[in-house]
Amino acid sequence: MAGEGAQNNPFEIAKKQIDIVAKVINLNDGIREILKSPKRELTVNFPVRMDNGEYKVFTGYRVQYNMARGPCKGGIRYHPQVSLDEVRALAAWMTWKCSVMNLPYGGAKGGVICNPKEMSKGTLERLTRRFASEIAPLIGPEMDVPAPDVYTDSQTMAWIMDTYSMQKGFSVPGVVTGKPIAIGGSEGRGEATGRGCMYAIREAAKRQGLKTKGATVAVQGFGNAGSVVANLISKELGSKVVAVSDSRGGIYNKEGLDITKVEAHKAKTGQVEGFPGAQKISNEDLLKLDVDILIPAALENQITSKNASQIKAKIVAEAANGPTTPEADEVLFKNKTTVLPDILANAGGVTVSYFEWVQDLQGYFWPEKDVNERLEAVMAQSYKAVADTAEKYGVNNRTGAYAIAVDRVATAIRLRGIYP
Ligand code: GLU
Repeated sequence: MAGEGAQNNPFEIAKKQIDIVAKVINLNDGIREILKSPKRELTVNFPVRMDNGEYKVFTGYRVQYNMARGPCKGGIRYHPQVSLDEVRALAAWMTWKCSVMNLPYGGAKGGVICNPKEMSKGTLERLTRRFASEIAPLIGPEMDVPAPDVYTDSQTMAWIMDTYSMQKGFSVPGVVTGKPIAIGGSEGRGEATGRGCMYAIREAAKRQGLKTKGATVAVQGFGNAGSVVANLISKELGSKVVAVSDSRGGIYNKEGLDITKVEAHKAKTGQVEGFPGAQKISNEDLLKLDVDILIPAALENQITSKNASQIKAKIVAEAANGPTTPEADEVLFKNKTTVLPDILANAGGVTVSYFEWVQDLQGYFWPEKDVNERLEAVMAQSYKAVADTAEKYGVNNRTGAYAIAVDRVATAIRLRGIYP
């Protein structure tokens, strides 16, 4: 999280976003209070045996934000800057993301404060298994289903699935999504976040008459989401990706980058920088490039009041969670930049997670083509609903998306009533 002080505390931002939409949809004050409060939070401090035999204590969190619409859903991230407020915000955003996509889920998120880049595979496995045991009382296919997020992947999910299953005494594939296909994962899940983002961009471009073929693109972040969307937008839409970056820095070539080759370079050297034939560019300057489409695909708080007025892209597609602050949202809206908000633009991941969970529960698996077609249909439908709602209220797409999402959760709460 690249925070710039208290005003960029992600949970304060998440609450502010609810206040903004509450006015637009006339939300009841009591319901607003419920929606601004995480339902359940678990903090765990747990020891891990490091490679040198010594013990080290790590801190992790699982926040279940709201489960009015179904089991909680959301990833687990490993990052040195994880904090409880960050996890709360991410759990809130998962709630709205599942709701705007009309998935029968609530929202949750987890995180462990650690630096996986400095850990061996063995240490990561021990950390993951112990964290999984610590949060085991809260997770399960009917209760809360984790998935990959920043610096976690299908292997992390395999360890969690195994740890949970060993405790139960039988295999429980539906306890996590984003697993390897060999143990109950879904075809298409690996690239789903990037693929969904590509569909959202295609739909938005169509609506505003922007040709994606030949359109220039910059992508900040080259992980689970960024590398895939960079690849698909060039291969399937014919756009020209001129810049990409990772946490160490970026590369730029106005003639376009061959993303498959950049991927190979990153796999070999661990970074995108140093890619032959490209100029160096900083993460900050990449955001300000004169491109048609900008895709923030890294962390929170990248587009802020400080740089929003310098964003030149016509479409900003948030493959990351929380990359734009509310102040920056206002500037972009005034400048007529189309923002595809995170809860829509990166929802392809959780949508295919939902497909994976359904397949696990049924024990019946679908071909990749079916997965992608269903994802495409859900993305197109949800994009249209968001854009129509934004137009109806005269607000930006984020508030349009929140109007749909928050209203659905509020309706579930109202219908169910308060227990006891
Ligand atoms: N971590 C991803 C997200 O932020 C995926 C969550 C999931 O599949 O549950 O949407």
